[in-house]
Amino acid sequence: MKTKIRSHESNAIDELRNRIKGSIITPNDPEYNETRKVYNAMIDKRPALFAMCTKVSDVQLAIDVCRNTNLLVAIRGGGHNGGGLGLCDGGMVIDLSGLKSITVDTKNNTVKVGGGCIWQEVDHATHEHGLAIPSGMISTTGVGGLTLGGGVGYLSRKYGLTIDNLLEAEMVLADGSIVTTNKDEHPNLFWAIRGGGGNFGVVTDFTFQAHEQKTVYGGPTLWPIEQTEEIMGWFDAFIHDAPDDLNGFIATMIIPESPFPEHLHNKQFCAIVWCYTGNMDKMEETFEPVTAKKPLFAHLGEMPYPAIQSMFDALLPTGYQWYWRADFFNSLTPEITKQHVKYGSQIPTPLSQMHLYPISGAASRVGATDTAWAYRDVKYCGVYVGVDPDPKNAEKITKWCKDYYKALHPYSAGGAYSNFMMDEGQERVKASFKQNYERLTRVKHQYDPNNFFQVNQNIIPKA
Ligand SMILES: Cc1cc2nc3c(=O)[nH]c(=O)nc-3n(C[C@H](O)[C@H](O)[C@H](O)COP(=O)(O)OP(=O)(O)OC[C@H]3O[C@@H](n4cnc5c(N)ncnc54)[C@H](O)[C@@H]3O)c2cc1C
Repeated sequence: MKTKIRSHESNAIDELRNRIKGSIITPNDPEYNETRKVYNAMIDKRPALFAMCTKVSDVQLAIDVCRNTNLLVAIRGGGHNGGGLGLCDGGMVIDLSGLKSITVDTKNNTVKVGGGCIWQEVDHATHEHGLAIPSGMISTTGVGGLTLGGGVGYLSRKYGLTIDNLLEAEMVLADGSIVTTNKDEHPNLFWAIRGGGGNFGVVTDFTFQAHEQKTVYGGPTLWPIEQTEEIMGWFDAFIHDAPDDLNGFIATMIIPESPFPEHLHNKQFCAIVWCYTGNMDKMEETFEPVTAKKPLFAHLGEMPYPAIQSMFDALLPTGYQWYWRADFFNSLTPEITKQHVKYGSQIPTPLSQMHLYPISGAASRVGATDTAWAYRDVKYCGVYVGVDPDPKNAEKITKWCKDYYKALHPYSAGGAYSNFMMDEGQERVKASFKQNYERLTRVKHQYDPNNFFQVNQNIIPKA
């Protein structure tokens, strides 16, 4: 691992230090170790320096230094990537956490968001105006990585993935130029960044379509783990034909001590976490089939949209060990649900869990080649998540995820959602972009022919 800076790099970095509006952090600085921490505590990378950017011109300067000195570059948005792709060993991290501006246009319900924002900040700004942008299911995640990978969340069935609500992006490319991309300007680039990750440049601003969604009705319902097969089978038959207003992800998990009642503590359950976005007059009717399945426990209610977005934040704080594996699925057949009962009953630590997010409603009405996000025709985006505060359990949670993945991969649609992947190699990347991979390699060649941006689920440029 190279952490020593060569002399020509050193000169370029000194110049960057003099010209950057933000700051430079190197291994000699007292804040270096704190700065190199990311959400997943398993990640232990040692960059040669951080360019803490506060302006678009800082990003340009940092890119110029890396290009002119052949220094490896990583881009950090919210730092939540499971595989630690916001950091690199020995190179420069372009840290965007200083790019935090958020502008809400209430006339057109559009929102311009700085490339270093996290969703919590965006939700806060939009909620004030009764608006919401579809994102994920945890509010501490970065806007940058989540959006560029796709964005699967509570509002996906109603308004589509996050990328389906992206109107425009301002980017700094590998050659240091600034471009605006939307459906008319650099349309190929706009197609590629909607799912293709940070392969094409640094996004300094995103513009999203927001929606009038002040509150939602939802929360968790639980069934004993032994009922998993029955509940998954029912959910599979129910959710995709339910109104777009209803979304819910199905999970196997252990119930923690707080805020749940005592009789549920530390037991395994099959859970569905619901989010209903429709008119409250129709709520009871929409939930009738759920009520008929007689959950052992239900904690449902109306709440502000940012409340459901942050419901699980406290359970999954930054700094825990984290390992995950993922796959897309076309259905929940008995062969599949049997494996969920098996591995759901063997959850290795209290916070480890499995989630299946429906890909239906508005998310499935976008064509599989309309954006780089290739799996519009599947029914589920699945993920096995191993989590624990104790580094001693890192191996245990990793093994559980790998075994779970191995058992279910043969029944999968082939690839995974790139944002739920670790660093799993080129074949996995190809499978995950599927029919869109070839076009992505050509767009990559057009905008980044030397693969300057390679610390990501990497698309190899091809003429
Ligand atoms: C607790 C948790 C919950 C999650 N929940 C969801 C969910 O509900 N739905 C969902 O879809 N995903 C979810 N994710 C996955 C998440 O989308 C990815 O981890 C994503 O990569 C995080 O983005 P980030 O900006 O925080 O990450 P970072 O680690 O900062 O970056 C990840 C990748 O994105 C690139 N990148 C980031 N910002 C930019 C930018 N501005 N310009 C160019 N490239 C950039 C980086 O180069 C890197 O390759 C979750 C992750 C965690 C850890």
